[in-house]
Amino acid sequence: MPEHDMHDPTAHAANEDPTTFEEMDISPKLKAILAEKGFTTPTPIQAQAIPSGLSGTDMIGIAQTGTGKTLAFSIPTIQRIGKDGGKGLILLPTRELALQVDEELQKIGGKIGLRTAVLIGGANMGRQKDMIRKNPHIIIATPGRLIDHLEQRSIKLDSVSVLVFDEADRMLDMGFAPQINRILEMVPSPEQRQTLLFSATMPEEITRIAETHMRLPVRIEIARAGTTSENVEQELYVVAKTDKQQLLEELLREYQGSVLVFSRTKHGAKRINRKLRDAGFTSDEIHGNRTLGQRKSALSGFKSGKYRVLVATDIAARGIDVKGIELVINFDLPTQAEDYVHRIGRTGRAGHEGRAISFAMPDEGKEVMAIQRVTQAELPITEHPTLPKHHLHRGARGSKGRGGGRGGRGGRNRGGGRGRSGGGRRRW
Ligand code: ADP
Ligand code: MG
Repeated sequence: MPEHDMHDPTAHAANEDPTTFEEMDISPKLKAILAEKGFTTPTPIQAQAIPSGLSGTDMIGIAQTGTGKTLAFSIPTIQRIGKDGGKGLILLPTRELALQVDEELQKIGGKIGLRTAVLIGGANMGRQKDMIRKNPHIIIATPGRLIDHLEQRSIKLDSVSVLVFDEADRMLDMGFAPQINRILEMVPSPEQRQTLLFSATMPEEITRIAETHMRLPVRIEIARAGTTSENVEQELYVVAKTDKQQLLEELLREYQGSVLVFSRTKHGAKRINRKLRDAGFTSDEIHGNRTLGQRKSALSGFKSGKYRVLVATDIAARGIDVKGIELVINFDLPTQAEDYVHRIGRTGRAGHEGRAISFAMPDEGKEVMAIQRVTQAELPITEHPTLPKHHLHRGARGSKGRGGGRGGRGGRNRGGGRGRSGGGRRRW
């Protein structure tokens, strides 16, 4: 398999989809840049979305993270706005994602003079206004900050000819529906623009947006090979709250590579990071209580290897693409089971093997079951030799009793390594 082919070939549904960028209707200049950047084979969503996007039709793309959605909308957007002088507007849920999309756009558009403006919270309004005055071709914005600019009349959206929603489901989850509706009132009507919408899931609210704000969109859905990334090996430790930090540090000593740690709360992330640093690990934190500058430096430090560990909350980590994460650790289980899939999607990307380890407290049986329902797979339980054993209670939270906490039915899964066979796995 060519090294850029990120996907199971069986995922290619329609054989007539172009199998190289060369075969697509992409402008020669963009083709040359793609080739130079090492992009040769489109991912399945790109193979379907790019031709359709280039032809000007509206589109809904449904695909999980790591499937290459950014290029899938960036190539049509860059090419189409070049044609009619209109502008592109990309709406997305988080600052990090905005910066990442901007980076990807610049990677392919920079050479042909593409000007972008990133409008995100936490950054200087004045400097963003300067960027807007330079008449950017594409605006990349989070809904809240874009509204701020609209209210201050620093921006007009009447020349938007391509409107992109990236991670639309997440924007709605984060409560951006009112802002999105206001923005939809400020852009040209659906007939006068092209609308591309990308989402990992298709909740009803998105169907409604599609019906009222898009022109008969084609729907492109990339079949997933199982709900969870198949190349991520997953395991679960049942651990007392007070032992979590110790377990984390033990695991960090057992593994070599870079590790993304998820905390349920901002304060938790901060505390975990502080303790890791005290224990001598290179680590940093990324969450809503940090300034944009701090978030950027955490992310770039993690990418460059300056920090081996990044401790994140769900929102801050959503959509970020860092290559080569060996391990994702769910220090806290996600509040929403669906987030489990997004979290572990950070490892094992682009055909690489990854690993995800979750910590569940004994009273989190329900949460674990919810995750298993979403992934439609059993999360194998592993025990750590240095920590007390606990069982998962299926019951409601708060039924903490000590009963049954003596563990060991399944035996240990250490010493012999942690192979796929999973000697320590057991049902519960
Ligand atoms: P998504 O938005 O679906 O989560 P991204 O657009 O962030 O996925 O892409 C994930 C990673 O795959 C990025 O590092 C990107 O550079 C890489 N990638 C995207 N398309 C290709 C391709 N055709 N060939 C090789 N790598 C690709
Ligand atoms: Mg994306």
